Amino acid sequence: MAENGGLSTSRGSYGASEFDGVDVESSTEFAAVPDAFQRLWTPHRMVYIEEGQQPQEHACPFCIAPSMSDGKALIVARGEHCYVLLNLFPYNSGHLLVCPYRHVATYDEATPEEVAEIGSLTQTAMTVLRTVSNCDGFNIGMNQGRIAGAGIAEHLHQHIVPRWALDSNFFPIIAGTKAIPRLLGEVRAEIAAAWPSDHSD
Ligand SMILES: [Zn+2]
Repeated sequence: MAENGGLSTSRGSYGASEFDGVDVESSTEFAAVPDAFQRLWTPHRMVYIEEGQQPQEHACPFCIAPSMSDGKALIVARGEHCYVLLNLFPYNSGHLLVCPYRHVATYDEATPEEVAEIGSLTQTAMTVLRTVSNCDGFNIGMNQGRIAGAGIAEHLHQHIVPRWALDSNFFPIIAGTKAIPRLLGEVRAEIAAAWPSDHSD
């Protein structure tokens, strides 16, 4: 196979280990994948670009994530029935998702054990996010069904979005641009380090 040198394949040139196992794209590679919603800096999108932009029918990202390393899947904590990971498309830095391991779509399909652990992991996430980020409040909830805004409607997930008093600015409205100020790998490592290790006991 001849190398023509015309296409860079060295996406590891940033040094993935720097971000705790999360691969990052170069700015030139990202510039070749434009979309209508401009982003100032979005290294987290590489995970979806690698996997194909939309999850395939038999490739639910919330089913696959637990089989990957924490760093690669952006997982911050694993419980007995559910786990917690960073959202790839965060509304804010530290935007977490709590998912059951089982592939169930809606809250009423979750077992009592899953419901209880979604609750307890959500409480722990609030405590941890308050500690590491000094947030002033949270938006917490579930979109049930695509019509209600669920991006991955097939697999139940609860959003936990930390909020700060000054986090809403004119950017998303005026410029169609949302600034995500911190790299996801960095944020994941910080939250995982602050997560109490005895949670699921
Ligand atoms: Zn699933």
